[in-house]
Amino acid sequence: MSPPEHRPESEADEDETTDDSTAFRPAIDAHTHLLPERLTAAIRRSLGDEAGWEFSHPTARRELEAVLRSAGVAAYVALPYAHKAGLASELNAWLLDRAAESDRLVPFATVHPDDEDVAGVVREAFEGGARGLKIHCPVQECRPAESRLEPALEVAADYDRPITYHGGTAPMFEDSPYVGADAFAELLDSYPELRVCCAHMGTYETEAFLEFAREYENVYLDTTFAMSTAAEETMGFDPSSIADETLVELSDSIMYGSDFPNIPYPYREERAELLARDLPRETARDLFYRTAVEYLGLDDLPGLETE
Ligand SMILES: [Zn+2]
Repeated sequence: MSPPEHRPESEADEDETTDDSTAFRPAIDAHTHLLPERLTAAIRRSLGDEAGWEFSHPTARRELEAVLRSAGVAAYVALPYAHKAGLASELNAWLLDRAAESDRLVPFATVHPDDEDVAGVVREAFEGGARGLKIHCPVQECRPAESRLEPALEVAADYDRPITYHGGTAPMFEDSPYVGADAFAELLDSYPELRVCCAHMGTYETEAFLEFAREYENVYLDTTFAMSTAAEETMGFDPSSIADETLVELSDSIMYGSDFPNIPYPYREERAELLARDLPRETARDLFYRTAVEYLGLDDLPGLETE
């Protein structure tokens, strides 16, 4: 046996070529993050300090895409978020530029509730090609449908674009007044026609959020982090608490996401738990592809499977 060849850690970690599961490929990853280097570093520092996580995945578009491509990801949604007022337009423009260079990046927009022209920021991004909006309730310190955000929600409704929320209490927001099922219910009461996704399966209130998905046709959940093989260890959530039957029942409301590249484990672990369940093929294709197509309104994109 020859000694192992030295390879850069990211490359060794990210070798996805042995997994050719057709249950997964082609996939849409509905939840990733691509941000300017300085912001990525700041987010990683804060997650490192608060959660003790370490990250080794690449953060630049090209390298990040190489990992996703070899995993079989045909399109990925990049979710920006502005942690203070006055940054959103610039962040949106930056991400739209990255999307223009890419054959698989689906850009979302960000807006801060204290931005001067909330509606204008969102409209400008949608006109520039953003396919949806991301709102990070605990970081941006806003409830999902509070009045400062209403102009943004109106624009999303006008343009028929979806909104992905960090709206649950995980992993460290159980004391936050901005998240949780009660706060999310206000959104559903006021804007039942909006397509909205609560990330991370709504953890730690998965039962309440699954119930929303049952009750409201326009409510989606993403599997990000919560359904990974590392969920128990990293966020104290047991993915097996969500039964196979629930995934089968709600496969048109649940879509695969990853939080890549800000995850302290290899990318394949994000889907390994779901694949190990050996779900019916139709369910798997919904989770890994078709539900995101519906949510995003992507079926007109060339090169994507539209069964
Ligand atoms: Zn995320």
